[in-house]
Amino acid sequence: MKANKKDGELMEKIISLCKRRGFIYQGSEIYGGLSGTWDYGPLGTALKNNVKNLWWKKFVTDREDMYGVDAAILMNPKVWKATGHVDGFSDPLVTCDKCKKRFRADKVETYDLKAKKGTCPDCKKGNLGEPVQFNMMFKTSIGAVQDENSISYLRPETAQGMFVNYKNVVDSFHPKLPFGMGQIGKAFRNEIAPRDFTFRVREFEQMEIEYLVNPKNWSETFEHFRKEMLDWNNMIGLNPKHVYENEIADEDRAFYSKRTIDFEFDFPFGRSELYGLAYRTDYDLKKHSEFSGVELSYLDEETKEKFTPHCIEPSFGLDRTILAILSDAYIEDTMNDEVRAYLKFAPAVAPVKVAVFPLLKNKPLLVEKAREVFLSLKKEFGAVMFDDNGNVGKRYRRQDEIGTPFCVTVDFETIEKDSCVTVRDRDTGKQERVAISDLIQFLKTKLS
Ligand code: ATP
Repeated sequence: MKANKKDGELMEKIISLCKRRGFIYQGSEIYGGLSGTWDYGPLGTALKNNVKNLWWKKFVTDREDMYGVDAAILMNPKVWKATGHVDGFSDPLVTCDKCKKRFRADKVETYDLKAKKGTCPDCKKGNLGEPVQFNMMFKTSIGAVQDENSISYLRPETAQGMFVNYKNVVDSFHPKLPFGMGQIGKAFRNEIAPRDFTFRVREFEQMEIEYLVNPKNWSETFEHFRKEMLDWNNMIGLNPKHVYENEIADEDRAFYSKRTIDFEFDFPFGRSELYGLAYRTDYDLKKHSEFSGVELSYLDEETKEKFTPHCIEPSFGLDRTILAILSDAYIEDTMNDEVRAYLKFAPAVAPVKVAVFPLLKNKPLLVEKAREVFLSLKKEFGAVMFDDNGNVGKRYRRQDEIGTPFCVTVDFETIEKDSCVTVRDRDTGKQERVAISDLIQFLKTKLS
């Protein structure tokens, strides 16, 4: 039975499992937390790294037309002036006149954006008045003297780190259009109302591509990345039925974008944006050229055509990806007359690929053989866990809960009889005997 996605308890169950099993903790928890921040524990970090590595491989190293960059989080403040973030990266903030709680006007169902009024969704008594524009960039200051010349910002998106390096990449590599730059990194937004676990946070990670094209070819590139993004969702194990493409209407798009699709996902709290794909035209490069005074055009050597490249931007939020993976993977079923909760991770993202157990902890021969099997698997698959705590049934449950696809048990027959181990499948609970000599190949096939 798949847990009911609309079940309000599903989110609580996921949050509780994440904390209990070391995936995600509240940020600065021992100090009472810090709103809008979460810390990834050992298994969450492993899950996140698996997703980042898969993304980097698919979108950067497996392609010949992509260049990876890792730009500084702190950038010259003129960058954000040029892009319009200093003047316009704001959300409409409304405050309840009774309970004084603050909300983002465009995300409150009880607020009428046109009439500029509404009822407080929290206390349900107060009124929400006219919105004020609230800039979401975190300001900081650089150097020992703090004045208006020392102001800098924590970047609110990774995209600009790539646009400002366009010329460097062209000068170093002389790539032919079309080509793209890819980056994974932190972004910061002072969200008015962080909510829904890692869905809306103040510090998050993005995986972004700025793909540059001749404007003649923008629409085929857009279509290419639309398909690649759907393919990515399948790769990481998201149920395609939970993903929706929302074509953003002309009047709702950013003014510089000629086409935008939001990829939405059925999160436990409802359907919301997971990723975005936008045709940003030549807006960013033109603005940076204007504000920096540096020419950022492209000369096509064959046609001698000179122009500012146009950009297609596939943008992936990493923390929302993790939440989507967790909510699709969380399953409750009954196995051996017991209710169990488990994470049905795609093997590629599972933080632990295989767990190895000796049947009994106090039998040195079993432990020794199990350690031997464990070390050989660890060498091959890396993320392998050894567990000898409690009975085997309990160990299976623990591994199911963290989404380990396979458990391997070394028992007396292994040593005395057949040199085989029992391999147990997380999803079906089925067990089969596999010769130790075939084990690596067997698991490789199953995990691929
Ligand atoms: P939203 O409308 O939900 O605020 P956005 O349209 O402003 O999102 P973009 O600026 O397009 O988001 O950012 C690209 C991606 O970065 C989003 O699709 C999302 O995955 C992620 N993202 C943006 N803001 C946040 C946030 N506050 N917390 C977590 N992820 C975020």
